[in-house]
Amino acid sequence: MSGAAGPLLEPSAGEQPGPSGPVLVHARGLRKVYGGFTAVDGIDLDVRQGESFGILGPNGAGKSTTMRLVGCVSDPTEGELSILGLDPRHDGPSIRARLGVVPQKDTLDEDLTVRENVVVYGRYFGMSRAAVRAKADELLEFVQLSDRADSVVEPLSGGMKRRLTIARALVNDPDILLLDEPTTGLDPQARHVLWDRLYRLKREGVTLVLTTHYLDEAEQLCDRLVVMDGGRYVAEGSPADLIREHSTREVLEVRYRTDDHEPYAEALQRLAQRVEVLPDRVLLYVQDADETATAVLALGGERPMSLLPRRSTLEDVFLRLTGRTLVD
Ligand code: ADP
Repeated sequence: MSGAAGPLLEPSAGEQPGPSGPVLVHARGLRKVYGGFTAVDGIDLDVRQGESFGILGPNGAGKSTTMRLVGCVSDPTEGELSILGLDPRHDGPSIRARLGVVPQKDTLDEDLTVRENVVVYGRYFGMSRAAVRAKADELLEFVQLSDRADSVVEPLSGGMKRRLTIARALVNDPDILLLDEPTTGLDPQARHVLWDRLYRLKREGVTLVLTTHYLDEAEQLCDRLVVMDGGRYVAEGSPADLIREHSTREVLEVRYRTDDHEPYAEALQRLAQRVEVLPDRVLLYVQDADETATAVLALGGERPMSLLPRRSTLEDVFLRLTGRTLVD
């Protein structure tokens, strides 16, 4: 669905292998200061055509601010920024015409029908009525809303509204689709439907830039991501690379019948490469969690209330890097 054009940057020699398309978003030392407060503190960005790039971090990390800079609705205080080979300071309108934006809060016209929401938006891009109607029908099919095309927006579920916002953002065949927290506030089933649609876009070669504070979302959708905290990056890489670099293969979660797990940590420490103590459990970082579970039971003493072996996730990476869990 995308068709990049314009004088784009080529990836420089010696960089990691990965998506090899041209760089669509390029930033160096990007900063955004509000009054005296630094929301984005000197970040670099390179997003290539066809890539699905994620910005992961807790509330207040600077994700939306970064997205606003990339979406050319806010000027950087400092640093170099180029989008689609153009300078947002001078070419904002031309860049914005080639972006698709899915904001955090839906901005649909609730009085119009589902189809009209897409059609009216398409008309802003100068598409003919016939072309935009055909495009709207194609997009509504894609986001599985064809059967609701003639109903008004207001009674739609949160997941449907979000899918409609995505359809609307795709009407101009954007070169980059920007999604700010695309599944925040949706129930698990609606999130999965949305992930499926976004995954299809990714497979079709659409360049996605998304922010999220859901680690599973980042793991599902992103080829590459940055972990942001306090306006800076704390890590960067593919989900698999980040897990390999900052965690062990598996984790054993050990729970006792108590609100304070600190006293259990010492005995468990020698069974693991690393231990994290949370209020409700101890996490043992190991290569083989089943084997470790047997070893925990063999310690004798108080029997744990539960033992949960699992693979390492980005949650473990985040905990390792920031000392905090990434919760709502
Ligand atoms: P995130 O999207 O990761 O939750 P934001 O980019 O929205 O984070 O915000 C980062 C920080 O910048 C927050 O502390 C927020 O309060 C602050 N901030 C964001 N926008 C503004 C603004 N317009 N004026 C002042 N401070 C802001």
